[in-house]
Amino acid sequence: MDDHNHHTGQPRGPERMSRRAILTAGAGLAATQIIPGGTAGAQEPKKDPPAAKGPFPARAYAATKADAPLGPLKIERRAVGPHDVLLDVLYCGVCHSDIHQARDEWAEWGPTTYPCVPGHEIIGRVAAVGEKVTKFKVGDVGGVGCMVDSCRTCDPCRSDREQNCEKGATFTYNAPDKHGPAKVTYGGYSDKIVATEHFVIRIPPGADLAATAPLLCAGITTFSPMQHWKLKGGQKVGVIGLGGLGHLAVKLAVARKADVTVFTTSPGKVKDAVRLGAKDAVLSTDADAMKRLANTFDLLISTAPKAYPMGPFVNALKAGGTLVNVGAMEELKGVTGINLIYARKSVAGSMIGGIAETQEVIDYCAARGITADVELIAPEDINKAFDRVVKKDVRYRFVIDMAKLK
Ligand SMILES: [Zn+2]
Ligand SMILES: [Zn+2]
Repeated sequence: MDDHNHHTGQPRGPERMSRRAILTAGAGLAATQIIPGGTAGAQEPKKDPPAAKGPFPARAYAATKADAPLGPLKIERRAVGPHDVLLDVLYCGVCHSDIHQARDEWAEWGPTTYPCVPGHEIIGRVAAVGEKVTKFKVGDVGGVGCMVDSCRTCDPCRSDREQNCEKGATFTYNAPDKHGPAKVTYGGYSDKIVATEHFVIRIPPGADLAATAPLLCAGITTFSPMQHWKLKGGQKVGVIGLGGLGHLAVKLAVARKADVTVFTTSPGKVKDAVRLGAKDAVLSTDADAMKRLANTFDLLISTAPKAYPMGPFVNALKAGGTLVNVGAMEELKGVTGINLIYARKSVAGSMIGGIAETQEVIDYCAARGITADVELIAPEDINKAFDRVVKKDVRYRFVIDMAKLK
Protein backbone atom coordinates (compact mmCIF):
# COMPACT_ATOMS: atom_id res chain seq x y z
CA MET A 1 0.00 0.00 0.00
CA ASP A 2 1.06 3.57 -0.57
CA ASP A 3 2.64 5.67 2.08
CA HIS A 4 -0.16 7.97 3.13
CA ASN A 5 1.85 10.09 5.50
CA HIS A 6 2.21 12.88 3.01
CA HIS A 7 -1.55 13.27 3.18
CA THR A 8 -1.66 13.74 6.90
CA GLY A 9 0.93 16.50 7.30
CA GLN A 10 -0.10 19.61 9.16
CA PRO A 11 -0.96 22.76 7.27
CA ARG A 12 2.03 24.98 6.71
CA GLY A 13 2.58 28.72 7.12
CA PRO A 14 0.63 31.23 9.13
CA GLU A 15 -2.42 28.96 9.37
CA ARG A 16 -0.54 26.31 11.33
CA MET A 17 -2.53 25.36 14.41
CA SER A 18 -1.01 24.65 17.77
CA ARG A 19 -0.40 20.98 18.48
CA ARG A 20 -3.05 21.10 21.17
CA ALA A 21 -5.59 22.60 18.78
CA ILE A 22 -4.90 19.84 16.27
CA LEU A 23 -5.30 17.17 18.92
CA THR A 24 -8.51 18.81 20.03
CA ALA A 25 -9.76 18.84 16.47
CA GLY A 26 -8.82 15.20 16.11
CA ALA A 27 -10.73 14.29 19.21
CA GLY A 28 -13.80 15.89 17.74
CA LEU A 29 -14.10 18.43 20.55
CA ALA A 30 -14.62 22.16 20.77
CA ALA A 31 -14.08 22.77 17.09
CA THR A 32 -15.46 26.27 17.35
CA GLN A 33 -12.69 27.21 19.73
CA ILE A 34 -10.00 26.44 17.24
CA ILE A 35 -10.61 29.37 14.97
CA PRO A 36 -12.31 32.11 16.96
CA GLY A 37 -14.68 34.30 15.05
CA GLY A 38 -15.22 31.83 12.26
CA THR A 39 -12.53 33.29 10.05
CA ALA A 40 -11.31 29.90 8.87
CA GLY A 41 -9.15 30.23 5.82
CA ALA A 42 -9.35 34.02 5.83
CA GLN A 43 -5.61 34.47 6.09
CA GLU A 44 -4.93 31.67 3.65
CA PRO A 45 -4.44 32.81 0.06
CA LYS A 46 -7.53 31.53 -1.79
CA LYS A 47 -6.16 28.78 -3.96
CA ASP A 48 -9.21 28.23 -5.99
CA PRO A 49 -10.88 31.45 -7.11
CA PRO A 50 -13.13 29.80 -9.75
CA ALA A 51 -14.77 27.76 -6.99
CA ALA A 52 -15.81 30.92 -5.19
CA LYS A 53 -17.58 32.54 -8.14
CA GLY A 54 -19.76 29.90 -9.74
CA PRO A 55 -19.99 26.24 -10.70
CA PHE A 56 -16.65 24.85 -11.75
CA PRO A 57 -15.56 21.76 -13.62
CA ALA A 58 -14.53 18.50 -11.98
CA ARG A 59 -13.60 15.08 -13.31
CA ALA A 60 -15.47 11.94 -12.41
CA TYR A 61 -16.14 8.30 -13.17
CA ALA A 62 -19.78 7.77 -14.02
CA ALA A 63 -22.31 5.23 -15.21
CA THR A 64 -24.32 6.60 -18.14
CA LYS A 65 -26.81 3.71 -18.14
CA ALA A 66 -27.59 0.60 -16.13
CA ASP A 67 -25.78 -1.91 -18.32
CA ALA A 68 -22.79 0.23 -19.38
CA PRO A 69 -19.41 0.20 -17.66
CA LEU A 70 -18.40 3.31 -15.78
CA GLY A 71 -16.23 5.76 -17.71
CA PRO A 72 -14.62 9.19 -17.31
CA LEU A 73 -17.00 12.14 -17.34
CA LYS A 74 -16.65 15.89 -16.89
CA ILE A 75 -19.10 17.22 -14.31
CA GLU A 76 -19.69 20.53 -12.56
CA ARG A 77 -19.54 21.23 -8.85
CA ARG A 78 -21.39 24.08 -7.22
CA ALA A 79 -19.65 27.26 -6.13
CA VAL A 80 -18.33 27.12 -2.58
CA GLY A 81 -21.04 28.82 -0.51
CA PRO A 82 -20.49 30.51 2.88
CA HIS A 83 -20.96 27.24 4.82
CA ASP A 84 -19.35 24.97 2.21
CA VAL A 85 -16.13 23.03 2.12
CA LEU A 86 -14.37 22.03 -1.10
CA LEU A 87 -12.46 18.77 -0.86
CA ASP A 88 -9.84 17.55 -3.29
CA VAL A 89 -10.78 13.88 -3.14
CA LEU A 90 -7.88 11.61 -2.18
CA TYR A 91 -9.65 8.28 -1.62
CA CYS A 92 -13.11 6.85 -2.17
CA GLY A 93 -14.25 3.43 -0.99
CA VAL A 94 -16.31 1.14 -3.23
CA CYS A 95 -19.55 0.16 -1.48
CA HIS A 96 -22.00 -2.47 -2.72
CA SER A 97 -24.59 0.33 -2.81
CA ASP A 98 -22.51 2.01 -5.53
CA ILE A 99 -23.04 -1.06 -7.69
CA HIS A 100 -26.75 -1.35 -6.90
CA GLN A 101 -27.21 2.31 -7.84
CA ALA A 102 -24.97 2.42 -10.92
CA ARG A 103 -26.77 -0.67 -12.28
CA ASP A 104 -30.23 0.60 -11.29
CA GLU A 105 -30.83 -2.46 -9.14
CA TRP A 106 -32.83 -0.36 -6.67
CA ALA A 107 -35.24 0.92 -9.33
CA GLU A 108 -38.20 0.03 -7.13
CA TRP A 109 -37.40 2.52 -4.34
CA GLY A 110 -34.56 4.62 -5.72
CA PRO A 111 -34.39 4.68 -9.51
CA THR A 112 -31.06 5.87 -10.84
CA THR A 113 -30.74 9.19 -12.66
CA TYR A 114 -27.96 9.04 -15.24
CA PRO A 115 -25.22 9.99 -15.43
CA CYS A 116 -24.57 8.51 -11.99
CA VAL A 117 -21.35 9.26 -10.11
CA PRO A 118 -21.27 6.85 -7.16
CA GLY A 119 -19.06 6.96 -4.07
CA HIS A 120 -19.90 7.75 -0.45
CA GLU A 121 -16.76 6.83 1.45
CA ILE A 122 -14.83 9.96 0.60
CA ILE A 123 -11.66 11.34 2.14
CA GLY A 124 -10.22 14.58 0.82
CA ARG A 125 -7.96 17.50 1.48
CA VAL A 126 -9.76 20.78 2.16
CA ALA A 127 -8.95 23.06 -0.79
CA ALA A 128 -11.31 25.95 -0.03
CA VAL A 129 -13.78 26.97 2.66
CA GLY A 130 -16.67 29.43 2.68
CA GLU A 131 -16.34 32.53 4.86
CA LYS A 132 -18.68 31.19 7.56
CA VAL A 133 -16.97 27.80 7.90
CA THR A 134 -15.58 27.18 11.40
CA LYS A 135 -14.94 23.43 11.41
CA PHE A 136 -12.23 23.29 8.72
CA LYS A 137 -9.50 25.28 7.15
CA VAL A 138 -7.54 24.83 3.97
CA GLY A 139 -5.15 21.90 4.29
CA ASP A 140 -7.25 19.91 6.79
CA VAL A 141 -8.47 16.43 5.94
CA GLY A 142 -12.21 15.88 5.79
CA GLY A 143 -14.52 12.98 5.06
CA VAL A 144 -17.91 12.77 3.39
CA GLY A 145 -20.05 9.71 4.00
CA CYS A 146 -23.51 8.83 2.73
CA MET A 147 -25.25 12.20 3.25
CA VAL A 148 -24.47 15.74 2.17
CA ASP A 149 -27.56 17.54 3.46
CA SER A 150 -30.86 17.25 5.33
CA CYS A 151 -33.56 19.67 6.52
CA ARG A 152 -31.77 20.22 9.86
CA THR A 153 -35.10 21.21 11.50
CA CYS A 154 -37.23 18.05 11.87
CA ASP A 155 -37.15 15.88 15.00
CA PRO A 156 -34.70 13.27 13.71
CA CYS A 157 -32.38 16.00 12.35
CA ARG A 158 -32.43 17.82 15.68
CA SER A 159 -31.71 14.54 17.45
CA ASP A 160 -28.54 13.93 15.41
CA ARG A 161 -30.24 11.37 13.19
CA GLU A 162 -30.02 13.25 9.90
CA GLN A 163 -30.15 9.91 8.08
CA ASN A 164 -33.78 9.60 9.19
CA CYS A 165 -34.72 13.17 8.13
CA GLU A 166 -38.49 13.37 7.70
CA LYS A 167 -38.05 15.40 4.52
CA GLY A 168 -35.49 12.92 3.24
CA ALA A 169 -31.76 13.29 3.76
CA THR A 170 -29.83 14.30 0.66
CA PHE A 171 -27.68 11.30 -0.06
CA THR A 172 -24.22 11.81 -1.48
CA TYR A 173 -25.17 10.55 -4.93
CA ASN A 174 -28.33 10.10 -6.96
CA ALA A 175 -30.38 12.35 -4.67
CA PRO A 176 -32.22 15.45 -5.87
CA ASP A 177 -29.72 18.28 -5.33
CA LYS A 178 -31.35 21.50 -4.16
CA HIS A 179 -28.06 23.34 -4.67
CA GLY A 180 -27.30 22.14 -8.20
CA PRO A 181 -25.70 22.62 -10.63
CA ALA A 182 -26.80 19.09 -11.66
CA LYS A 183 -30.27 17.66 -10.94
CA VAL A 184 -28.86 14.97 -8.68
CA THR A 185 -25.91 14.77 -6.33
CA TYR A 186 -22.66 13.32 -7.61
CA GLY A 187 -20.53 11.19 -5.29
CA GLY A 188 -16.88 10.63 -4.62
CA TYR A 189 -15.74 8.90 -7.79
CA SER A 190 -14.55 12.37 -8.64
CA ASP A 191 -11.54 14.62 -8.05
CA LYS A 192 -13.54 17.27 -6.16
CA ILE A 193 -16.65 17.54 -4.03
CA VAL A 194 -18.41 20.48 -2.33
CA ALA A 195 -20.49 19.90 0.79
CA THR A 196 -21.85 21.98 3.63
CA GLU A 197 -19.49 21.77 6.61
CA HIS A 198 -22.01 20.11 8.93
CA PHE A 199 -21.89 17.02 6.71
CA VAL A 200 -18.09 16.90 6.49
CA ILE A 201 -16.38 14.73 9.09
CA ARG A 202 -13.07 15.68 10.70
CA ILE A 203 -10.38 13.08 10.07
CA PRO A 204 -7.86 12.96 12.93
CA PRO A 205 -4.19 13.53 12.12
CA GLY A 206 -2.19 10.35 11.62
CA ALA A 207 -5.07 8.28 10.28
CA ASP A 208 -4.32 5.89 7.41
CA LEU A 209 -6.55 7.76 4.98
CA ALA A 210 -7.23 5.02 2.43
CA ALA A 211 -8.11 2.49 5.13
CA THR A 212 -10.22 5.05 7.03
CA ALA A 213 -12.45 5.88 4.04
CA PRO A 214 -14.65 2.75 4.43
CA LEU A 215 -15.52 3.74 7.99
CA LEU A 216 -17.70 6.50 6.51
CA CYS A 217 -20.29 4.00 5.28
CA ALA A 218 -19.36 0.43 6.20
CA GLY A 219 -18.01 1.49 9.60
CA ILE A 220 -20.88 3.70 10.74
CA THR A 221 -23.48 1.29 9.36
CA THR A 222 -22.26 -1.46 11.66
CA PHE A 223 -21.25 0.81 14.59
CA SER A 224 -24.65 2.48 14.87
CA PRO A 225 -26.65 -0.69 15.70
CA MET A 226 -24.01 -1.67 18.28
CA GLN A 227 -24.58 1.71 19.92
CA HIS A 228 -28.36 1.63 19.66
CA TRP A 229 -28.70 -1.94 20.95
CA LYS A 230 -25.93 -1.26 23.51
CA LEU A 231 -23.65 -4.16 22.65
CA LYS A 232 -21.47 -4.84 25.68
CA GLY A 233 -18.39 -6.87 26.48
CA GLY A 234 -19.17 -10.54 26.99
CA GLN A 235 -22.36 -10.46 24.93
CA LYS A 236 -22.70 -12.74 21.96
CA VAL A 237 -22.97 -11.07 18.60
CA GLY A 238 -23.24 -12.68 15.20
CA VAL A 239 -22.16 -10.99 12.00
CA ILE A 240 -23.97 -12.27 8.93
CA GLY A 241 -21.90 -11.82 5.79
CA LEU A 242 -18.16 -11.13 5.82
CA GLY A 243 -17.64 -8.39 3.26
CA GLY A 244 -16.88 -4.68 3.53
CA LEU A 245 -19.47 -4.13 6.26
CA GLY A 246 -19.06 -7.50 7.94
CA HIS A 247 -15.31 -7.35 8.43
CA LEU A 248 -15.67 -3.93 10.10
CA ALA A 249 -18.54 -5.23 12.22
CA VAL A 250 -16.20 -7.95 13.50
CA LYS A 251 -13.44 -5.47 14.33
CA LEU A 252 -15.85 -3.06 16.03
CA ALA A 253 -17.53 -5.79 18.08
CA VAL A 254 -14.17 -7.26 19.10
CA ALA A 255 -13.11 -3.77 20.24
CA ARG A 256 -16.10 -3.89 22.64
CA LYS A 257 -14.92 -7.28 23.88
CA ALA A 258 -18.06 -8.93 22.61
CA ASP A 259 -17.93 -12.61 21.70
CA VAL A 260 -18.19 -12.65 17.89
CA THR A 261 -19.38 -15.38 15.52
CA VAL A 262 -19.27 -14.88 11.76
CA PHE A 263 -21.77 -16.43 9.38
CA THR A 264 -20.49 -16.68 5.84
CA THR A 265 -21.35 -18.51 2.65
CA SER A 266 -17.69 -18.48 1.53
CA PRO A 267 -15.68 -21.45 2.93
CA GLY A 268 -12.51 -19.46 2.18
CA LYS A 269 -13.50 -16.76 4.65
CA VAL A 270 -13.87 -19.01 7.74
CA LYS A 271 -10.18 -18.76 8.65
CA ASP A 272 -10.16 -15.06 7.90
CA ALA A 273 -13.00 -14.43 10.31
CA VAL A 274 -10.88 -15.84 13.11
CA ARG A 275 -7.89 -13.74 12.01
CA LEU A 276 -10.14 -10.68 12.27
CA GLY A 277 -10.93 -11.57 15.87
CA ALA A 278 -14.07 -13.72 15.70
CA LYS A 279 -14.25 -16.60 18.20
CA ASP A 280 -16.18 -18.76 15.79
CA ALA A 281 -17.09 -18.80 12.12
CA VAL A 282 -19.66 -21.03 10.52
CA LEU A 283 -20.99 -21.66 7.07
CA SER A 284 -24.59 -20.53 7.11
CA THR A 285 -25.33 -23.42 4.75
CA ASP A 286 -24.28 -25.87 7.49
CA ALA A 287 -27.65 -26.86 8.96
CA ASP A 288 -26.06 -28.72 11.90
CA ALA A 289 -24.01 -25.70 12.90
CA MET A 290 -27.09 -23.48 12.67
CA LYS A 291 -28.99 -25.90 14.90
CA ARG A 292 -26.12 -25.98 17.41
CA LEU A 293 -26.27 -22.19 17.64
CA ALA A 294 -30.00 -21.96 18.43
CA ASN A 295 -30.82 -19.50 21.25
CA THR A 296 -27.26 -18.12 21.35
CA PHE A 297 -27.08 -14.49 20.26
CA ASP A 298 -27.95 -11.19 21.94
CA LEU A 299 -27.53 -9.36 18.65
CA LEU A 300 -27.18 -10.37 15.02
CA ILE A 301 -26.05 -7.82 12.45
CA SER A 302 -27.00 -8.84 8.95
CA THR A 303 -24.81 -7.20 6.32
CA ALA A 304 -25.89 -9.35 3.35
CA PRO A 305 -26.82 -7.03 0.48
CA LYS A 306 -29.81 -9.14 -0.59
CA ALA A 307 -32.70 -10.90 1.11
CA TYR A 308 -32.15 -14.53 2.16
CA PRO A 309 -34.07 -16.98 4.40
CA MET A 310 -33.72 -15.48 7.87
CA GLY A 311 -35.54 -18.21 9.81
CA PRO A 312 -32.43 -20.10 10.95
CA PHE A 313 -30.90 -16.83 12.16
CA VAL A 314 -34.00 -15.81 14.12
CA ASN A 315 -33.74 -19.25 15.75
CA ALA A 316 -30.13 -18.43 16.65
CA LEU A 317 -31.24 -15.38 18.67
CA LYS A 318 -31.57 -15.67 22.43
CA ALA A 319 -34.92 -14.76 23.94
CA GLY A 320 -35.21 -10.98 23.66
CA GLY A 321 -32.49 -10.82 21.01
CA THR A 322 -32.53 -8.66 17.91
CA LEU A 323 -31.52 -9.31 14.32
CA VAL A 324 -30.64 -6.00 12.67
CA ASN A 325 -30.74 -5.92 8.89
CA VAL A 326 -28.50 -3.21 7.46
CA GLY A 327 -28.09 -4.52 3.92
CA ALA A 328 -31.16 -6.03 2.27
CA MET A 329 -33.82 -3.69 0.89
CA GLU A 330 -36.23 -6.28 -0.52
CA GLU A 331 -39.07 -8.02 1.24
CA LEU A 332 -37.46 -10.10 3.97
CA LYS A 333 -37.77 -13.88 3.81
CA GLY A 334 -38.42 -16.63 6.30
CA VAL A 335 -39.53 -14.59 9.33
CA THR A 336 -42.70 -15.94 10.91
CA GLY A 337 -44.72 -14.37 13.68
CA ILE A 338 -44.40 -17.39 15.96
CA ASN A 339 -40.58 -17.19 15.75
CA LEU A 340 -40.67 -13.66 17.11
CA ILE A 341 -43.59 -13.91 19.52
CA TYR A 342 -42.52 -17.02 21.36
CA ALA A 343 -39.31 -15.53 22.79
CA ARG A 344 -39.89 -11.81 22.28
CA LYS A 345 -37.38 -11.59 19.44
CA SER A 346 -37.05 -8.63 17.09
CA VAL A 347 -36.11 -8.14 13.49
CA ALA A 348 -35.03 -4.54 13.00
CA GLY A 349 -33.42 -2.30 10.43
CA SER A 350 -30.79 0.39 10.64
CA MET A 351 -29.31 2.75 8.08
CA ILE A 352 -25.87 4.34 8.40
CA GLY A 353 -25.82 6.79 11.34
CA GLY A 354 -26.10 10.51 12.04
CA ILE A 355 -23.27 12.97 11.51
CA ALA A 356 -22.33 13.15 15.21
CA GLU A 357 -22.25 9.36 15.41
CA THR A 358 -20.18 9.18 12.21
CA GLN A 359 -17.67 11.55 13.80
CA GLU A 360 -17.77 9.30 16.86
CA VAL A 361 -16.91 6.13 14.93
CA ILE A 362 -14.09 7.92 13.11
CA ASP A 363 -12.60 9.15 16.41
CA TYR A 364 -13.27 5.79 18.11
CA CYS A 365 -11.42 3.92 15.35
CA ALA A 366 -8.56 6.43 15.18
CA ALA A 367 -8.01 6.06 18.94
CA ARG A 368 -7.90 2.27 18.65
CA GLY A 369 -6.13 1.86 15.32
CA ILE A 370 -9.18 0.26 13.71
CA THR A 371 -9.24 0.54 9.91
CA ALA A 372 -10.68 -1.41 7.01
CA ASP A 373 -8.68 -4.04 5.15
CA VAL A 374 -8.43 -2.39 1.77
CA GLU A 375 -7.20 -3.06 -1.74
CA LEU A 376 -6.20 0.20 -3.40
CA ILE A 377 -7.16 0.55 -7.05
CA ALA A 378 -6.75 3.15 -9.79
CA PRO A 379 -9.93 4.86 -11.07
CA GLU A 380 -9.77 2.99 -14.38
CA ASP A 381 -9.99 -0.33 -12.50
CA ILE A 382 -13.47 0.44 -11.14
CA ASN A 383 -15.42 -1.85 -13.48
CA LYS A 384 -13.21 -4.82 -12.66
CA ALA A 385 -13.63 -3.97 -9.00
CA PHE A 386 -17.44 -3.90 -9.30
CA ASP A 387 -17.41 -7.39 -10.81
CA ARG A 388 -15.12 -8.68 -8.09
CA VAL A 389 -17.34 -7.21 -5.33
CA VAL A 390 -20.34 -9.02 -6.82
CA LYS A 391 -18.28 -12.25 -6.88
CA LYS A 392 -17.31 -11.61 -3.22
CA ASP A 393 -13.70 -11.53 -4.38
CA VAL A 394 -12.28 -8.71 -2.25
CA ARG A 395 -10.67 -8.71 1.18
CA TYR A 396 -12.49 -6.53 2.15
CA ARG A 397 -12.95 -3.14 0.57
CA PHE A 398 -11.74 -1.62 -2.65
CA VAL A 399 -10.65 1.96 -2.25
CA ILE A 400 -10.04 4.13 -5.29
CA ASP A 401 -6.89 6.23 -5.25
CA MET A 402 -8.63 9.30 -6.67
CA ALA A 403 -5.40 11.29 -6.89
CA LYS A 404 -4.58 8.96 -9.82
CA LEU A 405 -7.58 10.22 -11.83
CA LYS A 406 -6.19 11.24 -15.21
ZN1 LIG B 1 -22.24 2.41 1.38
ZN1 LIG C 1 -34.82 16.67 8.78
